[in-house]
Parts: sequence; structure tokens; C-alpha cells
Amino acid sequence: MDLTFLGAAQTVTGSKHLVTTGDDTRLLLDCGLFQGHRNESIARNSTLGVDPASLDGVILSHAHIDHSGALPILVKRGYRGPIYATPATRDLCAAMLMDAAFLQAADARYVNHRIEREGVAMDKVEPLFDEHDVLRTLEQIMSIPYRHRHRVGRDATVTFLDAGHVLGSAITVLDIDEAGDTRRLVYTGDLGRKRIPILRDPELASGAHTLLIESTYGDRTHPPYEDMEEALAKVVTRVHARGGKIVIPSFALERAQELVFSLKQLRKKGRLPKIPVYVDSPLTVQITDVFKLHPECFDDETRALLQGHDSPFDFEGLRYVSSTEDSMALDDAPGPAIVISASGMCEGGRVLHHLRRTIEDERNCVLIVGFQAEHTLGRRIAERRPKVKIFGVERDLRAEVQVLEGFSAHADRTELVEYVEETRRRGPLRDVFLVHGEPAAQRVFKGELESRGFPSVRVPARGDEVRL
Ligand code: ZN
Repeated sequence: MDLTFLGAAQTVTGSKHLVTTGDDTRLLLDCGLFQGHRNESIARNSTLGVDPASLDGVILSHAHIDHSGALPILVKRGYRGPIYATPATRDLCAAMLMDAAFLQAADARYVNHRIEREGVAMDKVEPLFDEHDVLRTLEQIMSIPYRHRHRVGRDATVTFLDAGHVLGSAITVLDIDEAGDTRRLVYTGDLGRKRIPILRDPELASGAHTLLIESTYGDRTHPPYEDMEEALAKVVTRVHARGGKIVIPSFALERAQELVFSLKQLRKKGRLPKIPVYVDSPLTVQITDVFKLHPECFDDETRALLQGHDSPFDFEGLRYVSSTEDSMALDDAPGPAIVISASGMCEGGRVLHHLRRTIEDERNCVLIVGFQAEHTLGRRIAERRPKVKIFGVERDLRAEVQVLEGFSAHADRTELVEYVEETRRRGPLRDVFLVHGEPAAQRVFKGELESRGFPSVRVPARGDEVRL
């Protein structure tokens, strides 16, 4: 078996790994979009690194764009085979990939407009894919529920286990026949945390020979999730008392639903003042509807709520906002409110309008609950820069800024190490590959595993090919 690392190798975006079996079955694990500076993104995403026609199948771990967002490019360039995913991932992709196509078109329009109007020295930009490519992609997705073994090639089967990262997220268990023996490769995709709301804990695979594990937080530990709920209650109570608004930039998938869930729990416990809560992002509204269709992915606590006819995603005082007019009206309304809006790193979307209207008033608060990459507005706000640019205009950042790091959807260092240890306990684990991480985090994680006696821990670079 050969493994080729085509993306998310010594970096966190653009997940793409190729498995070629002894019998020449070619399977792609994820096909994600690289996200970074515009020029580098265009260059990286234009090169797939694999001939689409040569593939027998694509296995998709979850719906996040850095894992799924290059699927429409693959299809546009001639891939006609199956894309395997869980039912929830398939439904989320319908919303997420359509949104990505819309952003591609908007981005190309913006760049081309600047070239024409300002004479910027750049080649004109074509969107990498459009909504027709997304529709074809959706037609090729084959749903496979968790824990059902499915044949994906002459000599290979796949079984999905719950990764506990976002709705529908899967750990891929790939069994490959080798001269009467079976070799088992386990790919974690993005690995979730234990005891976070809505989702079940990540499942463990037995009998793995090879493990591809993510390493985003290989060098850091998160505070417990329960502490985050308490911290959230404190911020809301304080800002409410001074009559301010709280703007929460949030990723549309999972984070927004978890926030709603946590706010509902706090309200039930009497830990929250009466304050209106708005979820203002059309994509988030769509995605929350997908959540309601997939109770099979929920943990026991969330399912119990549903059985008691108590929706985890609704409570008195919570409103989902779809129309632009309603969105604009939120900032005109006086008095305290919580506004949850995308995008998560403040690089676009409706959250920009809310920030523009709120950040110059010290009564208000910007609450950061997700990872903020370098060079984003979210990062500059998180760093509490005195001035930030919104829609090209410098504004004074006078609002309070709070950063709650514990809301992460990724396993931390302790949980990652525990996952590898547990996998070793359950089988003949020989090779560990660290993917989806920055070099600094991977160095620490690798060192920790080696000190625990794992003989073969590798950190592949993009383009590396390994024969097992
Ligand atoms: Zn993810």
C-alpha cells in the first residue's frame, strides 16, 4: 500500500491524502480547499495533485470546507466515481458547498472589479467552481451510516466511526486485503473532544496497523467545556447589566449550534438574564435545520431533550434571522442583545455589519469563541488592537473583547495522546502519521509519542509518498 500526502501536511488546511492499494485501488481521503492568502490559495487549489479519472473513490470525513471544498473542482475536472460520506455530512455539504460556490463567485467579482477599476497588476480570476459543479458533486455522494462496512474497491472496504468533531464527522476505518491478510488503516479526520454538547465522544477503532491522526492542538490543552459555559454566563450577565450588545463571530457549522445549546442550558439553570438572542446568518439557519434532521448523531443528553419535545435549538427569546432587512434592524434596536453571526474569523458575512455598528461603544462586547488565523480581522480584534479596519474604514475598538478558547471542536494534546495510546492498546499499531497541524504543534506531539515508545511517528510534508 502506498500513501501520498497531497494536503494538510505540516499545515491545517486543504486535507487530501491518497491511498493506493497493492491491487491498484486508488482512494482519496478528503478533498479539501486550501485556505490562506488569495494568491497562494488560487495556486494550491488549482493543482489537485491527482488525476481525477484515475480514482476509484473519495472518502469524505466531514463537511468542513478545508476537507470537502475541493470536491467540486475534482468533479469539474472529470471525476465521476462515488464520494462516500455519512448521511449528515452529505446533507451539510448541500448547504456548505453551495455557500462556498457563492463565495467563489463573489471573490472573483471583487478581484476582477479591482483589476478593471484600479488597474491592479493581476491576472483575471475565474471562480474555481460554480453551483453546477456543486450539484454534480452532490449527485455523486453516497451515504454510508456509521458502523456499516462498505466495499469501496476490489480489495478494500470502509467503515465510518463517529469522530465527535461536527455533525456527521467520521473516523475512516479502511481495511485492505493483502495476500490473505487484512491491513487496517485508520484516518481520524478532525478529532473531536469528549463531553462537548450535542455530539457523542469520538469512537475508537480496534486492530489498526496504521494511524493518520490530526494534530491541530498537539502542543496545547483546552480548559474544560463546563468552565466555558460558566465564563459565558459571566460575560452575558456583565454586559447585560450595563445595557450593551454582545456580538459573537461564529462558524456556521457546530459552533453556532453549540452556543445556542449552551445558552439554553444556562437559561434553564437560571444563570442567564432575560436577553434576546439572535442567530443572524442564513447559512447557520440552514445548517441548524440539517441538525434537526439527524438526531441519530446526537449524544444521549441531546436525544433525551428531543424525546421530551424540547428542541435543543430553540428557546424563548431566541430568533433565527434570515432576511437582510431583519439583520440590519438588529443594530437599530436599543438595549442589550446577543448576536451570533458569521463568518467565524470576521473575514466576510453579516458579522461585519454588526461589528461596524457596535465596536466603538464601550458598553458592547465582542466575544471570540473560535480559532482566529493570522491576518484576519478576528485575530486583530482578539489581540485588542486599538484601531481595526472594517469595510475599508479605520474604527476605534472601544468595546470589551473577551476570548473564550475552550469552545474548540478539536481534541487537545492530552486527548490526542490518549487516542493514540488507546489505539495501540487495541491492536498491532505500527505506523503513526501526524497530519493537519502546524509544525510547532506537530513537533511537540511527535516528541510526546516518541517518549512513550512509539517507534514510527512521521510528520509527512506535502507531496511525500510512503510505501507501507
Ligand atoms: Zn473540521
